[in-house]
Amino acid sequence: MWKEYKPNMAPKKNPMPSQDPKVRAHNFKEVAEGYTAEMAIDEAKRCLGCPNKPCVAHCPVNINIPDFIHEVALGNFEKAYEIISESSSLPAVCGRVCPQETQCEMKCTRGLRPGSEPVAIGRLERFVADWHNANFKGEVVKPTPNGHKVAIIGSGPSGLTCAGDLAKKGYDVTIFEALHLAGGVLVYGIPEFRLPKDIVQKEVDGLKALGVKVETNMVIGRVITIDELLKEYHFEAVFIGSGAGLPRFLGIPGENLKGVYSANEYLTRTNLMKAYREDSDTPIEHAKNVAVVGGGNVAMDAARCALRLGAEHVYVVYRRSLEELPARKEEVEHAMEEGVDFQLLNNPVELIGDPETGLVAKMKVEKMELGEPDASGRRRPVGTGQFREIEVDCVIDAIGTTPNPLIKHTTEGLETNSHGCIITKGESGLTSRDHVYAGGDAVTGAATVILAMGAGKHAAKAIDEEIMSNK
Ligand code: FAD
Ligand code: SF4
Repeated sequence: MWKEYKPNMAPKKNPMPSQDPKVRAHNFKEVAEGYTAEMAIDEAKRCLGCPNKPCVAHCPVNINIPDFIHEVALGNFEKAYEIISESSSLPAVCGRVCPQETQCEMKCTRGLRPGSEPVAIGRLERFVADWHNANFKGEVVKPTPNGHKVAIIGSGPSGLTCAGDLAKKGYDVTIFEALHLAGGVLVYGIPEFRLPKDIVQKEVDGLKALGVKVETNMVIGRVITIDELLKEYHFEAVFIGSGAGLPRFLGIPGENLKGVYSANEYLTRTNLMKAYREDSDTPIEHAKNVAVVGGGNVAMDAARCALRLGAEHVYVVYRRSLEELPARKEEVEHAMEEGVDFQLLNNPVELIGDPETGLVAKMKVEKMELGEPDASGRRRPVGTGQFREIEVDCVIDAIGTTPNPLIKHTTEGLETNSHGCIITKGESGLTSRDHVYAGGDAVTGAATVILAMGAGKHAAKAIDEEIMSNK
């Protein structure tokens, strides 16, 4: 089967065509432009079709990677899409934002030899999904209704996946979303230049075509409670996919000055409320010197948005070294290419304001060094007692988030752990309340798109089993 074409034994991946860093640092258009069909076929021919499929075991939703890649190599792109769709409902999203380098690609046999790179599995997944979106002309077949109702709270990847899987089985599914647009972090957090919003909209439209209802501006716990959904609105099960959108702050003096944002607020204003567009009336600080505190994907997104909003200097202030930086390597490289200045081994201890304007004016930082590994396995940053000040007129805290406690406070008997994450029974996602399931960041704390999707999928299966067994 794998001999139908001449294999490509090039040691490196086909490079991803991308916008020039100097140009893209000033626009919100997508950075990576995607493979052409020729590049995709060439890259697909690098796959060895390993019989033991190590890549599949390291994909959280176990996409049949070698089989879809094989179809790409033969130019059968729609067939490749069908194979991916058996396991993933958001391939255009995952192909763009999944941390493939620590999942499927990390175990790819092609990457094991020194100097060799794995097959570009993520780029191929993106290519196939984009090809399908541009070329598929078939009709979506609406499933036959089975007469059962399920409510989904939150329209992030966990909620969308759970809704999609249940709708395909004929359930009458309603998604309740607090914001005015569906998509969760995919629309309010991850910027346009990494994940164009029309891609997310297509996924949401696809669900609507299957019959899923999406009720926006519905904060569950305020407008309706979970108990009311079950008792008064007669939903037979509820899935909570409300994410982890409550920002953490540093807790240092000066954090209440003007010009200090949580990354969540800064990104929501920029991405969801389109503050970067001339015709938008969303207020945002168009600052000259921006310091982003943190080292994850969220910090990289905030820093790169600040550049695009016109900042002259953007610092990422992180208390450990480059080696411990948790963001995806590709995102860090992109941020560096665009001119973000990494102030590593620096810990903010105070923000100092301009007494006349009340705006943040300086960030006082302590130089750190690395000590022994801590509980996370990473070397602990230790203060050196040397301090200095960085001039800033905007500070963005990107040091993590936890689940919003609203749903817990308004749902009697819903158990959470000490971090506010909902406690569930194994893979099913069943919570301490009957008929109430949960998954994604609301359960794990801030994690990844693919893990949230996996949780939505497992919960959909468990909900279906429960409802069908009660028939
Ligand atoms: P979310 O996507 O958070 O969606 C939850 C939804 O529930 C939201 O729309 C929210 O408004 C809604 N909601 C909350 N409370 C209520 C309520 N009471 N009633 C109704 N609706 C409610 N992951 C990756 O894999 N790769 C990346 O590159 C990446 N980059 C990221 C960049 C940023 C800036 C952020 C913030 C996260 C990033 N992540 C990334 C993480 C990833 O986006 C999340 O793990 C994932 O979106 C979690 O999905 P979810 O469905 O659990 O929740
Ligand atoms: Fe192909 Fe790499 Fe998977 Fe082997 S591990 S089947 S080479 S993608």
